[in-house]
Amino acid sequence: MTSSPAGRKILLSGSRPTGRQHLGNYVGALAQWLDLQDELECFFMIADWHALTSTYRDTTELRENVRQQMLDWLAVGLDPTKATIFAQSAVKEHAELHLLLSMFAPLGLMERCTSWKDNIVEGGNEMLRTYGFLGYPCLQSADILMYQAHVVPVGKDQVEHIEKTQDLAQKINHLYGTEADPVFRVPEWRLGNAPVLLGNDGRKMSKSYGNCIYLSEPAAEVEQKVSVMVTDPARVRKTDPGDPDKCSVWSYHKVFTDPKHYDGIQEGCRNATIGCRQCKKLLADEINARFEPARQRRAELERDPDHWRDVLREGNAAARTRAVATMERVRDKLHLYSE
Ligand code: SF4
Repeated sequence: MTSSPAGRKILLSGSRPTGRQHLGNYVGALAQWLDLQDELECFFMIADWHALTSTYRDTTELRENVRQQMLDWLAVGLDPTKATIFAQSAVKEHAELHLLLSMFAPLGLMERCTSWKDNIVEGGNEMLRTYGFLGYPCLQSADILMYQAHVVPVGKDQVEHIEKTQDLAQKINHLYGTEADPVFRVPEWRLGNAPVLLGNDGRKMSKSYGNCIYLSEPAAEVEQKVSVMVTDPARVRKTDPGDPDKCSVWSYHKVFTDPKHYDGIQEGCRNATIGCRQCKKLLADEINARFEPARQRRAELERDPDHWRDVLREGNAAARTRAVATMERVRDKLHLYSE
């Protein structure tokens, strides 16, 4: 079985290329990845094939989204000397393993998926009623098993996907491996406790709602977006006491603001001694201070149009080396034709 040459545990994580990264992407994934790349042998994947499951009708933005995402990943500090950053579609072995896993995947296992139930069974979303969408947990399993990952960081709603990966790995190990020499390492999930940030209009943060604050946003733009953030509806006038726990601004403060300000914000809100405008200005300043170095780094990266591409090319090659080794082993274990 492939193991980490560095002797560290292997981690696989990734995200679909959605373009410029926003604060939700940072809090939900990137902030953890920055710590994990020092602790584990990390593979960070741009999941462009996964993006196709829902955007197959129009892929015109896909390449540009990869570029934007790479610029932000590098700008915030993902480090190609510490982690392997690669594009899923550049490592064709993922498609082969997806195919092989699909032979072992019971239909019921694939249908017992919350997103399938929500979108197809209950939502009646005909656009997503595709073979690819039904099988995406299988592709996800291929992504993980390809690198013999020990651990996959997940939110609560993704645990079921790792359970499916475990099921598939165990089934194949039972049929074609031995206890001493399994085909696949059975991965574990690591449950993150990242807070979920809402968009500045109080709805789920989403590019399509236009309610995101992007990491690369100029300071004035951040200030403007924070200034219209939804607050505690009970605080109509500055003299009305508020409840920070009912306010999106406070949920952002808890993530981005220096804790030394927490008591002042909470007390000031509850006894109406600070206004929302002041509270929001403090938040915007904290966000801007936090991301100014990343913005500068991004501007430098943009001046060298080939750099992100070179990083990705090297990452793809490193991922491919590992993937080729895994697939040779899998083909051998499954007694597939070999020349
Ligand atoms: S003072 Fe701050 S925490 Fe309180 S309602 Fe206004 S913006 Fe929200």
